[in-house]
Amino acid sequence: MKKYSLNAAKMVFAWTFLLYFCMVSCKKSKVQAGNDDKTIVPSTQPEEGPSKETDTRKVQFKIGSFSSVIADFKPTAEAAMDLLSKVLSSKEFKDSIYKYHYAPSNQMKSPSQCAKAKELNLIKVNPLTGRVDGSMVYEDLLKYKDVALNLTIRQPSEPTNVLGSSSYCSYTITSNSHWLVDNMAMTLPEEYAIHLGHEFCHVVGYYHGDHPDTKTEDVSYGIGSLIANILWDWSLKEIKKKELHSYLLDNSNWRLRCLAVQPADMPQSGKFNDILQLDLANAKSANRSYNHFYFDFNPPEEQRKSGSNVVFGVTTASGSYWVEHNYYRMDWLDRNAGTFKFTYIANNGSSSATLNYSKNLRALFERKTFKMIYSSQKGPSGRVMANFICVEDPEIFFYGRFERKWINWF
Ligand SMILES: [Zn+2]
Repeated sequence: MKKYSLNAAKMVFAWTFLLYFCMVSCKKSKVQAGNDDKTIVPSTQPEEGPSKETDTRKVQFKIGSFSSVIADFKPTAEAAMDLLSKVLSSKEFKDSIYKYHYAPSNQMKSPSQCAKAKELNLIKVNPLTGRVDGSMVYEDLLKYKDVALNLTIRQPSEPTNVLGSSSYCSYTITSNSHWLVDNMAMTLPEEYAIHLGHEFCHVVGYYHGDHPDTKTEDVSYGIGSLIANILWDWSLKEIKKKELHSYLLDNSNWRLRCLAVQPADMPQSGKFNDILQLDLANAKSANRSYNHFYFDFNPPEEQRKSGSNVVFGVTTASGSYWVEHNYYRMDWLDRNAGTFKFTYIANNGSSSATLNYSKNLRALFERKTFKMIYSSQKGPSGRVMANFICVEDPEIFFYGRFERKWINWF
C-alpha cells in the first residue's frame, strides 16, 4: 500500500495551484525610478486605426536583448513571442476583449507620459462608466505594429512564487526560471506567451491595484486568461483532427496520458453513476473519502507488470492518501472503430478490505467492451475532455478529464 501524507500532499497541491495562479498573473510590479537605457523602443508609429478589411490590428513582438540562465531557451522565447503576436492580432482576441471591462484601480495612481511610447493612453478609465473598457486595453496592447521586448530569465535568489516582473514603459520583462519547466498543462512556449502577455499589460500601463476580485477585475489576469483560452482553442482544434483513440497507448500526445474523474467535482450520471456510487459508499463506510479514479494509458516502465499497458487507479483519503494500482492489458478489438477490452494482470496496494473501493468499477471494466470519444464538456485550458462509453450498453458512460500528471496518481 502506498501512503502519502495528506498534509504534505495538500501543500504540494497548494503550491501547484499557486504556481498556476501566479502563472497567469504575477506579483504587483512597481514603477522603477529609472529605465534601462538599452530598452528598445517600439520601432514604428502607431497604426492609423483598425484596418477596414479585418477590423483588427496587428502586432509582431520581437526579442530585443536576451539573457537566460536556462540553456537553449531562446527558441522557446521566440516561439512564445510569435504565439503572443498571433493571439493579440487575432479576431478572437478582439472579439473577446471588447466584451470585458475592468476595475478603475488598474490605472496607475499617477500616470506619466511614456517617452518611448508617447501614444499610449494615459487615462484608462472611461469617465462615463468609471470602468476600464476592454476596447481601451486592446488599443494600448496593439498601439504599435512592431514591439521589441528585452527578455531576461533569472534564477531567483530564494524560493518564491513570483513568476516575473515588469514596469510601465520599460519594455523589459524579467522572469524567474523556477517555473519555466515543460511539465505544465500547456506547452512551454504557450505558458511563457501567457506570462509575457500578462507582463506586457504592465508595460503599457495597467497595474494590479486593489481590485475586489482579481479574476474578473484585473486587466493583466484577464488578458492572461484570454490568451490561454485562445491558445487552447487553437491547440484543441489541432488535436481533434485525429480521433481520440488514435492517441492512446502510443504516447503520441502527452496531453492524453491519464483520464481521471474526481466525482466530487465531476458529477456523473445514469447507469454509470449508479455503479460508481457503490464504490463511493464502500469507501465512505470505511470512513474514507473517495478522491478519484483514473486510467493511465502510458504508465512508466516500472508500472507495467507482466505485459500490462494500462494502469487503473483509485485514490481515497483519510488523514493520508491511499492509492490502488490495477494493471491491465488493453487490447484493441477494432482499431478503426476504437473499441477495446481490458484483461486484468495484477494489483498493487490493496488488501481484501481496500479492494472494495474499486470493486464495482473493476467488475465493469473487466467484463465489457469500451470506446472513447471527445466530450463536449468544457474543461480547463490545456485539458482534453473525453467520454468513456460501454459498447454493449451506451447508457453506461462517464466523462473524464485528461491530465498530464497529478500529485497522487503515480
Ligand atoms: Zn502582474
